[in-house]
Amino acid sequence: MSGRILIIDPVPTNRIVLKVKMMAAQYVVDTCNNCAEAIELMCKVQPDLVLINLLDKAEDGFAFCRKLRENRATRDIAIVSTGVAATAKARFRALDAGADDVLPRPINDALLLSRVRNLLRRRNAGMDLLHRDAADRTFGFEEEPAPRLSPARVSVIGYRAADTVNCVNTLQDGLRQSVQMVSGAQQFVTMLERGTPDVLILQGADEMIEQTALLQMVCDFRARVQTRHTAQLVIVPAQDHDLAAMLLDLGATDVIFADAPDAELVLRTQRLIANKTADDHLRDRVRKGLQAAVTDPLTGLYNRRYAEAHLQRMVKHSEASSQPYAVVMIDLDHFKSINDRFGHAAGDMVLQELSGRLKSAMHDGDLVARIGGEEFLIALPDTDIAAAEMTGERLRKLISGTPFSIGKGRDPLTVTASVGIAVHSEALDSAPDDTTLGHVFERADAALYTAKSAGRDAVSVWSSAA
Ligand code: GH3
Ligand code: MG
Ligand code: MG
Repeated sequence: MSGRILIIDPVPTNRIVLKVKMMAAQYVVDTCNNCAEAIELMCKVQPDLVLINLLDKAEDGFAFCRKLRENRATRDIAIVSTGVAATAKARFRALDAGADDVLPRPINDALLLSRVRNLLRRRNAGMDLLHRDAADRTFGFEEEPAPRLSPARVSVIGYRAADTVNCVNTLQDGLRQSVQMVSGAQQFVTMLERGTPDVLILQGADEMIEQTALLQMVCDFRARVQTRHTAQLVIVPAQDHDLAAMLLDLGATDVIFADAPDAELVLRTQRLIANKTADDHLRDRVRKGLQAAVTDPLTGLYNRRYAEAHLQRMVKHSEASSQPYAVVMIDLDHFKSINDRFGHAAGDMVLQELSGRLKSAMHDGDLVARIGGEEFLIALPDTDIAAAEMTGERLRKLISGTPFSIGKGRDPLTVTASVGIAVHSEALDSAPDDTTLGHVFERADAALYTAKSAGRDAVSVWSSAA
């Protein structure tokens, strides 16, 4: 796994030992001995993760962490503290200043490496989303995530009621919101039908749960469709660093030791909620961006780009199943004169109304797309000539049979369309090749031309005799 790590530690031996470990794990490593140097170096090397020793009293590493978090350019860099005073208060202070984790001393190598992997994985996933999102945005424009409108859904899974109740109460007080209590994984899975939590806290320090069952649970929830984006925070027995390391590698988002103070549990949960909210927001924007790239804004129908990709898939399906397919092209008649007589807005209304009629007239498996100004395409899988012709006739009547509303105070307008159809079937055509689709398109277009020449408001099916 690639990643660039900056080690900040005033003790030369610490720097060397850490550097060797990180380089052995194939990371690119830079080192420096204080925060002032680090600030200079950061602009140059742009690390993905910072390993910082916060033990040094001579300088304020906490302020440095806070600064990284406040600055837009550096706020997503992961921070792991490789040392603080051995008190719960010092740990909390480091986390509160922005460290993603504080590794207990002496540092357990397995835990160090799995924490680094865990944080880099999260960072890379975030970067992927950002890049996809950036492609849909005007360069330089960055929108802050909207604040959550509803409280996050937080669930605690435990086996021993007393422990679970304590945990739920701590979180409810700290987060000032309700937290769901679940006894056991079985119950959790049945509850998923009613909604997915944003953050799941697993009572893994409970002696009633076996280690293997705990590990399986984390993997299972990470793999399930409903919970794959749910943040998982696992409470592990104090000092069990190896278990914590395994959990982080298997899909836990974060781990906390059972002897950590309540404030730390609340802080970690709050942070998971904030990250989950930001990730959801970004995923939603990417989804909308992808949707916008394949739809036509005026009518909400698929655009030509999507139609072409869809037709390729339909051709593949037809080749595999030996079933015919049909392509129907619809072009409104004398549409320009509607614009000329009633204005562009009236023309737009006709296009929108028509799109609604076409969509509701077709089956789920059929594609309806707007491929030009007043040109529409319908792709019909598993359809032969007779069925395609009937559909074409049905569509023609769907348009000419009911006048279109073109605004208040105006009489509805009768609109007609010409329909061209081409059908591809093994019986009609020789073996398909890369140009098959092009031919089918050309034939549908030729049929449309025939329908126009025949006086419009007509359906024509391509045939080799034409
Ligand atoms: P024909 O019967 O031969 O198809 O004639 P036509 O007028 O429909 O065809 P032509 O290609 O001459 O004109 C199409 C018109 O569609 C011209 C263009 O201004 C209009 N048009 C294209 N896109 C839009 C749109 O989004 N909204 C509106 N209102 N008009 C559009
Ligand atoms: Mg046209
Ligand atoms: Mg036209």
